[in-house]
Amino acid sequence: MSYRKQFIVKPGEKVNLHKIDPSFKDKHESHEKALPKIVEHIGRMDKLQYLLYADGNHSLLVVLQALDAAGKDGVIRHLFSGMNPQGTSVFGFKQPSNDEIAHDFLWRAHLRSPSKGETVIFNRSHYEDVLVVRVHKLIEKSEWSTHYQLINDFESMLSYNGTRILKFFLHISQEEQLSRFKQRLEDPARNWKISYSDYSERKLWPDYIEAYEDALEHTSTQHAPWYIIPANHKWFRDLAISEIIADTLEDMGLKLPSPHVDLDEIRNNYHAAEFEQAKQNNKKS
Ligand code: ATP
Ligand code: MG
Repeated sequence: MSYRKQFIVKPGEKVNLHKIDPSFKDKHESHEKALPKIVEHIGRMDKLQYLLYADGNHSLLVVLQALDAAGKDGVIRHLFSGMNPQGTSVFGFKQPSNDEIAHDFLWRAHLRSPSKGETVIFNRSHYEDVLVVRVHKLIEKSEWSTHYQLINDFESMLSYNGTRILKFFLHISQEEQLSRFKQRLEDPARNWKISYSDYSERKLWPDYIEAYEDALEHTSTQHAPWYIIPANHKWFRDLAISEIIADTLEDMGLKLPSPHVDLDEIRNNYHAAEFEQAKQNNKKS
């Protein structure tokens, strides 16, 4: 079964994250064994992103959400490294700035949404407005629960306008999170990544899981589905996400646009004349 079918949250389906094994790795034994497939998917993604850009009628929005240290940065580094920077961008959602707070919560997401031909990755997203704000009681329940419908309407509008939306929840266990914090403490190259808030947020784990389950349930739609990705094994996470993105782009039936000039005319008149001229110039020099 394709990972698109296996990990999708079907619209209206109840989500119980405790029942989903974050260490799942399918039939693959190791990173080494899975690597050729990952490389193949990344190659397909690169080719298809080129077509998306050339075609210029559609766009792709990838949303990455997860608890701390689940690997959002790793996905971006590994999977999008080969894509042409022209036509690809990443936007990280931090605590909203004064300007952002002065607008509706979807404003900053809309502002960064991809234009036609573009691929945009959201590292965290407008979903923080049904997650962190709920867990930290920054706004009332009546408010955050209204956000689900507003998000669905917003994403439906983007989709109507030609944007394919893929949303990934990276699912790790609490044990795995702690071991990644330890790596951040021990590895000097990763020291900068650890923060006090990683530990205080960790204490709120059950609240976050509940908030995620509700968000996944309320906002997985046909035009903007959620996928729950087992992410304890970094390589399996990359394998599943790259397959889902490549398969989705493939289904879009992207084509190179036809040239908007008469190629024969250019060949026979313009190019032939330039070629002749260059030959003459060469002879002279
Ligand atoms: P890492 O996983 O590597 O720690 P990160 O995505 O957590 O990376 P940080 O700069 O540590 O990056 O965190 C950004 C913070 O901004 C998160 O704690 C997130 O919950 C918070 N944030 C994002 N959007 C909102 C929002 N709308 N309201 C309040 N806080 C928000
Ligand atoms: Mg953080």
